[in-house]
Amino acid sequence: MIPLPIKIPFVDLKIQHQPLETAINQAIQTVIQRGDFILGEALQSFEKAFAKACGVDYGVGVASGTDAITLGLKACGIGEGDEVLVPANTFIATIIGVTQSGATPILVDCDPKTALIDLNYAAKVLTPRTKAIVPVHLYGQMVSPRELLDFAQSHNIIIFEDAAQAHLAHRDGYLAGSVGIAAAFSFYPSKNLGAFGNGGMLITSNEEIARNVRTLRNYGAPSKYYHTQQGTNSRLDTLQAAILEVKLPHLEQWNQQRNQAAKYYDHLLQSLAEKGITPLENFSNVGHVYHLYVIQINEACCLTRESVQEYLKEQGIQSGIHYPIPCHLQPAYKALGYQLGDFPQAEKLCETILSLPMYPGLNMEQIELVVEQLSLIK
Ligand SMILES: *Cc1c(COP(=O)(O)O)cnc(C)c1O
Repeated sequence: MIPLPIKIPFVDLKIQHQPLETAINQAIQTVIQRGDFILGEALQSFEKAFAKACGVDYGVGVASGTDAITLGLKACGIGEGDEVLVPANTFIATIIGVTQSGATPILVDCDPKTALIDLNYAAKVLTPRTKAIVPVHLYGQMVSPRELLDFAQSHNIIIFEDAAQAHLAHRDGYLAGSVGIAAAFSFYPSKNLGAFGNGGMLITSNEEIARNVRTLRNYGAPSKYYHTQQGTNSRLDTLQAAILEVKLPHLEQWNQQRNQAAKYYDHLLQSLAEKGITPLENFSNVGHVYHLYVIQINEACCLTRESVQEYLKEQGIQSGIHYPIPCHLQPAYKALGYQLGDFPQAEKLCETILSLPMYPGLNMEQIELVVEQLSLIK
């Protein structure tokens, strides 16, 4: 079979890298000249720059977003015997981070309007062993900071943010990663700020937590060949940090482009509401950084979500599903003891959501074409 030509890709990273090619090559050459590939100068300067951009005091570069959650929770004193509240609909790495820390994830259903964790539900599954909540700023929209802070204070638990999809997102005057005691970011290539490989960062304004993660990521050694903790090898490469440092000054503008593209999608999609196609809601206006632009194909639509996706593919338009199976129904986490029906909102979302093309550089004509094709469904 001849593969269908792609007219509009789901993401296009070349658009953002081409103008930066010279600067990135130069940054890479500088690291090669210095030879400080592990814990080098560019890592330290990028850690400072990223923490500052997020409005906190410390950044600790690690090998991935998953490790930022694992090591971050450990550094906050979370581990075996502790329960941690997490959304049932998130990328599986959130759950992996919690279980790798030794703690038990307690899953929570979501708000169907935003797909974000439902704090009313969370209040019902608290126990004396609940030590933390890991809100996920899913798709680039922050969970309400005020509601989070009220919830955590009234139940005496800590907030550890999974901000892997929300670099520089903001809501009600708070930046993503600055609400809780600490936060995890991912620099997976397609994230809003992406490396040329894997990478992550733990950010915090708590000096002790920052120091703990620095030790944990470096074989548990606060100084060479002296090991105070059973750590691991999880450092952000100096080369990746050097590339990310070149990209960071452009992040705000890229996020603005994503937000504007989303506003245009929202506007054009209004006419498709009666056809059963509706976007998720944005309660943070320009603070939503749209890592993904997600629509729902609900009962009123004459086609199933699968058929809509297939139809778009035939028109050369790529789309995605984030995520098709909720965490509680993943075979790997069977032992948590959940079953179908436990989280109705998350389960329904998994069956109805579709992510449309979204990246900085996606232009108005392309958005018009996507919505036009959706409008032709009958
Ligand atoms: C990407 C992602 C992670 C994991 O980041 P990696 O760098 O891929 O390990 C964690 N949580 C969420 C919500 C993510 O989207």
